[in-house]
Amino acid sequence: MYNLPAEKFQGIKTPFYYYNTRLLQDTLDAVKAQTGKRPGYHVHYAVKACAHPDVLRMIQEAGLGADCVSGGEIQASLDAGFPADRIVYAGVGKSDWEIELGLQAGIRYFNVESVAELEVINEIAARMNRTANISFRINPDVGAHTHANITTGLAENKFGIAMDLMETVIRKAQEMSHTTFVGLHFHIGSQILEMDDFVALAHRINELQDRLEAQGIGPVPHINVGGGLGIDYEQPDEHPIPDFEAYFQTYEKYLKLRPGQELHFELGRAIVCQCGSLITRCLYVKQTEHKQFVIVDAGMTDLIRPALYGALHRIENLSSREAGQPYDVVGPICESSDVFACQYNLPATRRGHLLAIRSAGAYGQIMASQYNCRPLPKGYLDKDLE
Ligand SMILES: *Cc1c(COP(=O)(O)O)cnc(C)c1O
Repeated sequence: MYNLPAEKFQGIKTPFYYYNTRLLQDTLDAVKAQTGKRPGYHVHYAVKACAHPDVLRMIQEAGLGADCVSGGEIQASLDAGFPADRIVYAGVGKSDWEIELGLQAGIRYFNVESVAELEVINEIAARMNRTANISFRINPDVGAHTHANITTGLAENKFGIAMDLMETVIRKAQEMSHTTFVGLHFHIGSQILEMDDFVALAHRINELQDRLEAQGIGPVPHINVGGGLGIDYEQPDEHPIPDFEAYFQTYEKYLKLRPGQELHFELGRAIVCQCGSLITRCLYVKQTEHKQFVIVDAGMTDLIRPALYGALHRIENLSSREAGQPYDVVGPICESSDVFACQYNLPATRRGHLLAIRSAGAYGQIMASQYNCRPLPKGYLDKDLE
C-alpha cells in the first residue's frame, strides 16, 4: 500500500533517507481521529525523532505541537511554523541561551528536571522581565519493558525529579517571582508495546494527583504523559500505522483527569518511524570461510540504532527477487559494531543492488554523524523525486 518507489531511486546518490509522505499523512490523520474525539487531548510531536524541515512542516500543518529537548529544536520548530504556545521544552541540561530562547519565543512551558534548573530559569526570566511556565518532570520509578538504554522512568535514570520531593519543589516554584507552576510531566521510555506500562504510569499519576490535592496543590492545568509508543519493526507493511486507538484508550480508561485538565502527549517514533527508509547500495559481496557479507554503502554513521541498541530493522533488496541466502549486512565504517543484521535472509544480492532498511524514520537521519569524515545522508520526500 505504501510501496517504495524503487524506480525513482535509481539516479540518486546513496545512502539517503526516503520519507513516504502519504504514510506520514495517514499516520497524522489517525492520531487526529483519536485526539479529535477526546477533548483536551493534545499531541506534541517529539522533534528529536526526526527534524527534517519538510517532515516538521507537515506535522505542524496537521495541528500537532512540538516537544523539544534543545534550543536547536525550538528554533527548528519555530522555523517550521509551530506557534510558540504549542512548543514545550524538556531536558536535564538546559543551557542559559536555550532558556533565553524559550522565554523570548514565549513557549508554552518548560519541563523542569531539577531544583537547580528551576532556580536558573527563575533568574533568567526575572532578568528578561518574563514569567516562565513550569511543568515538573517527575521520575515515577516505573519500568518500561524495553531496551535498558531507552528506559527513562526508573529511579536510577538521570531524568526527572523523585516523586517524594514533589511537594517541596512545587511550593518552591509557587513562591518564586518569575515562574508559574502549570503542570506535571512524565516520560517512561521508548518503543513501548505493552499497554500495561502506560497503565502503571496512569496509576502513579493518579496517586500523585490525590496526594498533591490532599496537600492543597492543584489540580494543575495539564498532565503530560510523554511519549514512548512503539512500532512494529519486524512487519512494517502489516502495521504501518501504530494502534493509536489502544494507546489513547488506555489513558482514557486509567488516568483520572480532573475537570478541565488537559492531557498532553509527546509522541515521536510512533509518528515518523514507519514512513522513513534508509536506501543504500550493495558495494561488495564478500565470502569468508564462515559466511557471506553484504557490504553496503550506508553505515552506523547513517543509522546508529543497530550499533547503539542492537536494534533490528527489516532489510529488503529492491533489485532482486532471486532465491537467496542468509547474509551479514554490514557497513563500511571502521568499527566492528557497524552491522545492520547478522544471518539475515535476503534474495541473491550483488554489487549495485539497492537495499532498503525499513522503519528508519525515527532516530535515523537525525542521529547521523560524520565519523570517518563521511558526508551526512540527505533526506528526500516523494515530491523531491518527481
Ligand atoms: C524522546 C522523548 C519523547 C519521544 O519518545 P518516543 O519514544 O519517540 O515517542 C517524548 N518526551 C520526551 C521528554 C523525550 O525525551
